[in-house]
Amino acid sequence: MASDALDVVVVGGGQAGLAAGYYLRRTGLEFVILDAQDEPGGAWRHAWPSLRLFSPAQHSSLPGRPMPATTDGYPDAGHVVDYLAAYEKRYELPVRRPVTVTAVRRDGDLLTVHAAGESWRARRVISATGTWWRPYLPYYPGRAEFSGRQLHTTGYQGPEPFAGQHVVIVGGGNSAAQILADLSATGDVDTTWVTPRPPRLLPDDIDGRALFDIATRRRAALLQGGADDGGVAGLGDIVAVPSVRAARDRGDLRARPMFARLTPTGVAWPDGTTLDCDAVIWCTGFRPALSHLAPLRLRTTGGPIPMTGTHATAEPRLHLIGYGDWTAPASATLIGAGMNARTAVDDIARALGGRPVIRN
Ligand code: FAD
Repeated sequence: MASDALDVVVVGGGQAGLAAGYYLRRTGLEFVILDAQDEPGGAWRHAWPSLRLFSPAQHSSLPGRPMPATTDGYPDAGHVVDYLAAYEKRYELPVRRPVTVTAVRRDGDLLTVHAAGESWRARRVISATGTWWRPYLPYYPGRAEFSGRQLHTTGYQGPEPFAGQHVVIVGGGNSAAQILADLSATGDVDTTWVTPRPPRLLPDDIDGRALFDIATRRRAALLQGGADDGGVAGLGDIVAVPSVRAARDRGDLRARPMFARLTPTGVAWPDGTTLDCDAVIWCTGFRPALSHLAPLRLRTTGGPIPMTGTHATAEPRLHLIGYGDWTAPASATLIGAGMNARTAVDDIARALGGRPVIRN
């Protein structure tokens, strides 16, 4: 074993990477967290100002340190950034910024993690790079011909640039509903909401807490061979945070079916109906940001990387956390990331002779 090798390199210093750091501290293992951002906060640093979490602060915490409460119960992204910054300081987590990992390669008994001009050798790597960095836009004919503005959720920074315009919002999840609510609240932006299937707006008394429990139960049922009924509610369902409730009460939350194509001036439905618009906002989700893992050739099909527990089946020294249900139930949420990190770090500690974090 090379003497200059670390026990663990964590790639990504957002909520999932920090949660891994919290548990790694308890194992006695030597580790570093490499993060591409200039400052703490991960993807939350880039969210639009009116975004609200779909769970109250006390249900959006990482392990060890509760998120401070807010007056209306649904924190904004700035609150999460402050919380994550305080979190990494409190636990003195060894985060290096800005470091963008470009590749992870096999290197005998070790893995080598490469960034511009630097590399780290490690016995285990935890990948926690999130999804924000890989926005997904579905293909629709005419997209290149549309003369208006097109942007993804990641490009939305508030209603101001759309004053006096007609905006089409695409997508049936929380991002779409909150962006629609933000635009329509101005009274100065016309909105049309299109969704591939009818959106599911949850009752006012159900929020992210219930969604997390449902995701966990559904995963347990699937592991025991039960049928996947899609759940009675899922993380894609819309939580009635105050801005969304207000939009619903104004009558602005009415969705139309998906259009078939874009035209130079707007969108067109299969029956030939057209609508002119100035902008299309694609709230159509994300994919895991995994390009740094390409040299390991872990994908056998077009689907997610096959996993055994928290590690890649074809590379047991690589653990993946925080990417969504395929790594652990609701692991792409604040509360779920902690549980995913705990299991992964416990596996690593047991394999490398560190102190386990889960007591049997
Ligand atoms: P990120 O926050 O993306 O952090 C990953 C870090 O890794 C980033 O700092 C990134 O720069 C870095 N990185 C990426 N690639 C590299 C690389 N190659 N080398 C080095 N560093 C790299 N969750 C909730 O719990 N409640 C909510 O209400 C909620 N609302 C949401 C609303 C929206 C619009 C979105 C998009 C998500 C929401 N989520 C919510 C989901 C979830 O909490 C976030 O997606 C969360 O940011 C994921 O954390 P992460 O640490 O996995 O990834």
